[in-house]
Amino acid sequence: MIRQKLLKQFLVEPGSEVDLKQYVTDWTDTDEAKELGKDVIKERAAEILEESRKQLAEAQELLYASDTHSVLILLQAMDAAGKDGTIRHVMSGVNPQGCQVFSFKKPSAEELDHNFLWRYMKSLPERGRIGIFNRSYYEDVLVVKVHPEWLGPGVTKDPDKKFWEKRYEDINNFEKHLSRNGTLILKFFLHLSKDEQKKRFLERLTNPEKHWKFSEADLAEREHWKDYRKAFEDAISATSTKQAPWWIVPADRKYVARAVVADVITTSIQNLGLKYPEVSEETMARLAEARARLEGKKEGEL
Ligand code: AMP
Ligand code: MG
Repeated sequence: MIRQKLLKQFLVEPGSEVDLKQYVTDWTDTDEAKELGKDVIKERAAEILEESRKQLAEAQELLYASDTHSVLILLQAMDAAGKDGTIRHVMSGVNPQGCQVFSFKKPSAEELDHNFLWRYMKSLPERGRIGIFNRSYYEDVLVVKVHPEWLGPGVTKDPDKKFWEKRYEDINNFEKHLSRNGTLILKFFLHLSKDEQKKRFLERLTNPEKHWKFSEADLAEREHWKDYRKAFEDAISATSTKQAPWWIVPADRKYVARAVVADVITTSIQNLGLKYPEVSEETMARLAEARARLEGKKEGEL
């Protein structure tokens, strides 16, 4: 497990004003990391990921058995920050029946004809399950804030500051509702530097196995880097709450990002303090009777 003190630097304290410059994108460049050395960190990150994966599989079983809570994990980031890879690595040990991933793309005409939370509500995890949103309703205050022309017809022609503030408020109220109804909400912003994004895009152009990942649309969005950054800062500042905190995860090194996300998810579920349902004395007696019948000690042997 990662030390609490270290993890805390990635947590956005509710009510704080986020300046993304204050959050590292490459944790291996920090003083505490330099002391350890990159090789040691890489090794340690792999161990943490492995350890967390095992514990997550157990935590998910308990989540399912106790049937009192659900877990909603949100991943947001600029393109090529590693959302898909993080999901694949972190969730690889979990029973597929206990986990669902939903990826949200540009909304359809039908979706745009509803309130902006509608399409996400339909995909929320039921009790006992982990739901992962690969992009989420935060796109509606991120990409849509950068491109207000993508707001659905009939919403507003000219969204002002108040309009976005109301959306943040809607999101906070929605998350409060979910939390009050037993949903643990964990929100991750994979924080990538512009240089690292360039490297990853170039890799997609160079490596034939990665060509399929390249999209010209991603290049167009890169030109809006500053606007996205501001949109992320505003959204994260307004919506990091006690019941649904944001984690700003350094994403320039994939192994660091994966270890941090895995550790936060695992420890947060463990901190729910769930227990396997206790069996009543009456049920215990019935179980003993069933055993006796199976073992042929009682009439009506099976
Ligand atoms: P990808 O996740 O790379 O397949 O890309 C999905 C695209 O859908 C991204 O460019 C997102 O910004 C876009 N997208 C997701 N949600 C919304 C939304 N609510 N409104 C507009 N675009 C969205
Ligand atoms: Mg993409």
